[in-house]
Amino acid sequence: MASHVVGYPRMGPKRELKFALESFWDGKSSADELQNVAADLRASIWNQMADAGIKFIPSNTFSYYDQVLDTTAMLGAVPPRYSWNGGEIGFDVYFSMARGNASVPAMEMTKWFDTNYHYIVPELGPDVNFSYASHKAVQEYKEAKALGMETVPVLVGPVSYLLLSKPAKGVEKSFSLLSLIDKIIPVYKEVVAELKAAGATWIQFDEPTLVLDLDSHKLQAFSDAYSELQSSLSGLNVLIETYFADVPAETYKILTSLKGVTGFGFDLIRGTKTLDLIKTEFPLGKYLFAGVVDGRNIWANDLASSLTTLQDLAGTVGKDKVVVSTSCSLLHTAVDLENETKLDQEIKSWLAFAAQKVVEVNALAKALSGQKDEAYFSSNAAAQASRKSSPRVTNEAVQKPAAALKGSDHRRATNVSARLDAQQKKLNLPNLPTTTIGSFPQTMDLRRVRREFKAKKISEDDYVKTIKEEINNVVKLQEELDIDVLVHGEPERNDMVEYFGEQLSGFAFTVNGWVQSYGSRCVKPPIIYGDVSRPKAMTVFWSSMAQSMTKRPMKGMLTGPVTILNWSFVRNDQPRFETCYQIALAIKDEVEDLEKAGITVIQIDEAALREGLPLRKSEQDFYLKWAVHSFRITNCGVQDTTQVHTHMCYSNFNDIIHSIMDMDADVITIENSRSDEKLLSVFREGVKYRAGIGPGVYDIHSPRIPSTEEIADRINKMLAVLESNILWVNPDCGLKTRKYSEVKPALSNMVAAAKLLRTQL
Ligand code: GLN
Ligand code: ZN
Repeated sequence: MASHVVGYPRMGPKRELKFALESFWDGKSSADELQNVAADLRASIWNQMADAGIKFIPSNTFSYYDQVLDTTAMLGAVPPRYSWNGGEIGFDVYFSMARGNASVPAMEMTKWFDTNYHYIVPELGPDVNFSYASHKAVQEYKEAKALGMETVPVLVGPVSYLLLSKPAKGVEKSFSLLSLIDKIIPVYKEVVAELKAAGATWIQFDEPTLVLDLDSHKLQAFSDAYSELQSSLSGLNVLIETYFADVPAETYKILTSLKGVTGFGFDLIRGTKTLDLIKTEFPLGKYLFAGVVDGRNIWANDLASSLTTLQDLAGTVGKDKVVVSTSCSLLHTAVDLENETKLDQEIKSWLAFAAQKVVEVNALAKALSGQKDEAYFSSNAAAQASRKSSPRVTNEAVQKPAAALKGSDHRRATNVSARLDAQQKKLNLPNLPTTTIGSFPQTMDLRRVRREFKAKKISEDDYVKTIKEEINNVVKLQEELDIDVLVHGEPERNDMVEYFGEQLSGFAFTVNGWVQSYGSRCVKPPIIYGDVSRPKAMTVFWSSMAQSMTKRPMKGMLTGPVTILNWSFVRNDQPRFETCYQIALAIKDEVEDLEKAGITVIQIDEAALREGLPLRKSEQDFYLKWAVHSFRITNCGVQDTTQVHTHMCYSNFNDIIHSIMDMDADVITIENSRSDEKLLSVFREGVKYRAGIGPGVYDIHSPRIPSTEEIADRINKMLAVLESNILWVNPDCGLKTRKYSEVKPALSNMVAAAKLLRTQL
């Protein structure tokens, strides 16, 4: 009975790789030093898996930046602007593609399926000269071997690689990415040959795009690619790994009938329907890599229940053909629970991070072969039971009203046009009103004050005084700039989810629970472990203080329920929508308290609404329905004269525009400056759209200061498709990461542009 791990986090238990990378990028350490840190991390990960008893240990799942970029390097598919002259790709070309350099910008980055991990999007055209230009996969295999460990080298599969690419500039329309398959297969063959020569006995191809809704043309590409590879793969055991969702039935058939493949990996956490497919039919003599340990979350596995599933599967495919595995790479979970010194002991007993999941995988494999570690299983059962019955998890007072929301509807009674009229009477805003998205620059001083207050090094009085001063400065600045709807600047918040999570019940926080987001960037999602409720008001104190400093409307600033949900580790003991409804009810109370305190404009950010969209089309409607419903719940109880804003990052809304309209916000501000035309064309179709819209007029991700003319030009383009009475003028997103020296002139130009255009309406 064997055990396998799909992939493992690279950052290290204390983000060692992050610090080594950043120090190297800053020129503070050498390439050798960076390589040493990386080699140590790889060795310790391999050792840890070997010690745990894992039979199929992955190699080449380490990366200095991203595994898709590694594949681009392997294939020598470097876009010409990075002036690579052939030869083995080194750090300079590699990191230039990842991060840009003084003269060329980085390659595009986008979300890896529905995770918060971002990969570097390959840019391919018909002229790319593919060549074997990075031997990393072979080097890592040999490196492990030298340490006495036999590993399974992992490659991003050729078809997924192409499907995750985008056509290079200039060939967008005329070109099919899949047509490149014949050109990349020869490079894969070279890699395979070299791995074989180095002694590899297994190879893993990650083909996660197999879980998407693929048309027959794309499915055909899989059959073609693997039959083309078949001869070079002979003598090797081949695993094709899928993850993140169910494999559609049609795809399953094609996948499991591929020739020359030894094993198939499935995500059985998200793929409950795949489980049924396997039970109905699985190819005789092949290995099933059964992903029963969740790579996307932090909960300890319910070992007894997984064992039952595995035994069941063993009945179908044969006991010696089941390999216990993780549902996907452990890249998407936190690294090691050992380092959580501040977590409550009981909550800790409910959790398993990557290091613990490896142990779970092996324990399940042993149990399946009849060598059950009784002590380990019974302590797991005890933890499961404590989680089920804990009063910290279940709160009847929350459960009932939240459950009642399903199937019901909540909307404001008056339609948006009538509401906007009522609001305008009260707010008296000019045409093209100006506003910002919420945060103002977070200076070093500000971060230090928050840190010191948290560490109880300064008193509450001093803290409040400092924050108040900061708010006052931000208010005065906005008045000087003559912005119409003000914000308080969010100086009291380190993070838009953590700030609320810390004040809501049902949330826990880790010290080192980091998950890679992109490159050296990591996020530390809160853990939602119990029913969510709001013990007391969370933002009213600061918002009313800010409102008292000005006669202009001051926006109350909240994070919406869907974003709080999508940026947290969520409960797996109840459906996501139930948790979301609970958060929605808590935010609803906050909205109503703000209204009572005299706040007339309330912004509820849903930056991550798009992110939670399920991969499979068949599941998307249901998600959008409860997500949008949750948002409406938060503000269905306010008066017509209270103006509800929402804000969203990213603008690939094309496919969900109707859901966005259905949120029924009075005003929506969206990121726009990086993908203009697309967004505007979406709203063009929506002349029916009567609510206010503020497509960002400049990109806050860049330090560049846009000129008045440039912004005016942008607004003019928007006016060509949107009616002037619904258009707002605002930046793309919050200003938290910018400096005041950038923010002041940029906002000043923004207001000037709005004023200029008002005279021309
Ligand atoms: N109100 C938040 C801010 O301005 C919104 C951030 C976001 O959309 N990511 O910082
Ligand atoms: Zn944003």
